[in-house]
Amino acid sequence: MIETLLLNVLFLLFPVLIAVMFFENKLTKSNKYILILLASIALIFCMAFPFTLELGFIFDLRYIPFIIVALFGSYKMVLPLYLVLNSYRFFIGGEGIYQSLMFSTVIFIVVPLLSKRFMQQSAKNRILYAVGVTFLVTAFYFFTLCFNYSDLTSEFWTLTVYAFVIHIIVVCIIMSLIEKVISNVKTRDLYFQSERLKDISDLSASIAHEIRNPLTVTNGFLQLLQESKTMTSEDKSYIEFSLKELERAEKIVSDFLTFSKPQSANMVYANLKDEIMYVENIMRPYSKMNQVGIQVCFTNSLKKKYDENQMRQCFINLFKNGIEAMKDNGGTLSIDVAEHNKNIVIKIEDNGIGMTSEEISQLGKPYYSTKKEGTGLGMLMVYNTISNVKGKIDVESIVGKGTTFLITIPV
Ligand code: ADP
Ligand code: MG
Repeated sequence: MIETLLLNVLFLLFPVLIAVMFFENKLTKSNKYILILLASIALIFCMAFPFTLELGFIFDLRYIPFIIVALFGSYKMVLPLYLVLNSYRFFIGGEGIYQSLMFSTVIFIVVPLLSKRFMQQSAKNRILYAVGVTFLVTAFYFFTLCFNYSDLTSEFWTLTVYAFVIHIIVVCIIMSLIEKVISNVKTRDLYFQSERLKDISDLSASIAHEIRNPLTVTNGFLQLLQESKTMTSEDKSYIEFSLKELERAEKIVSDFLTFSKPQSANMVYANLKDEIMYVENIMRPYSKMNQVGIQVCFTNSLKKKYDENQMRQCFINLFKNGIEAMKDNGGTLSIDVAEHNKNIVIKIEDNGIGMTSEEISQLGKPYYSTKKEGTGLGMLMVYNTISNVKGKIDVESIVGKGTTFLITIPV
């Protein structure tokens, strides 16, 4: 019994192990197919080495990879497993083929329906969710068995208890490992992201400071020159132009400085309303120009300490990206700021061109841009600002449909 259990756990651990060793960094499409293939192999091995109890009762763990793939993926992903399971079941033969076919079809139809809810859960809840689903599937299995066996002996109940305990323990182990892998990848990405931000903010701060000094000196001398009595009015207009351009250069430099540490002079304790309204106002002309409407819904009363200029710049970047994503076909940029469990939740939704998951993973990398005149610094600044207030950003996007940025800031 214990040997079979260990063997089965090993089969099920195999795909997880391969995922950790080879695909942890990049879960591309082809890697996903390989994982499904590995899950199918695990499923076949589970069926080939079942638990055999006295009295000829047999059960195995075939539904564990099936349920896990169904919960994490969709119908498309679990379909190969469904086919493999039933083909192999036919290959084994014996009685109960049709019951097995019917049972697996029900599971195949029902479990992926839960996938969306499942994916929205936190890691811990996902483990519980998977355990719950496994429990129900096992219960359903024994419920159907009840009809085939007329006399439910005490052995039947012993088998039931064994099967429940084994299924739940194994699902707990496998799911905990999978969630651990996912959380490790996330933590590492966050770490790299913050390292990158640190580099760029140090660099931009030092360069910006260096440039600011000569700009100030030049500015001063030009102003002195402007007061000269011997100059023609034409010369004076040149100086005026130069001063204007200098001012612009200074503005760019201070924008760059928003990458660096927040300056306490700008710190405010507020609920973001002023910043959202300010940014909405200054973005109106730009949105009109691109046939985009802006809709704001503000219901947040929670307050937070943040750098006002940085926060404004952050919203400008997000709004601007949203508008730019819709500029070919028009659309509406909806902004919703609400409170939820001591978090300020900001949702910025556009119905623009959207992004692939590959593109989403590139967001926030310095100089990553798909636009002809893009700088690829906007999202970097956004991530920097939100990480300064200990918030997190979730991105959901469908190509051709639109993008939603969900920013959660704890207070
Ligand atoms: P830039 O706007 O200068 O290109 P950003 O850092 O602001 O740089 O954005 C980086 C890239 O992220 C953009 O080039 C675009 O491909 C993508 N992106 C950002 N926001 C959106 C959005 N709302 N919809 C679609 N793509 C987006
Ligand atoms: Mg941008």
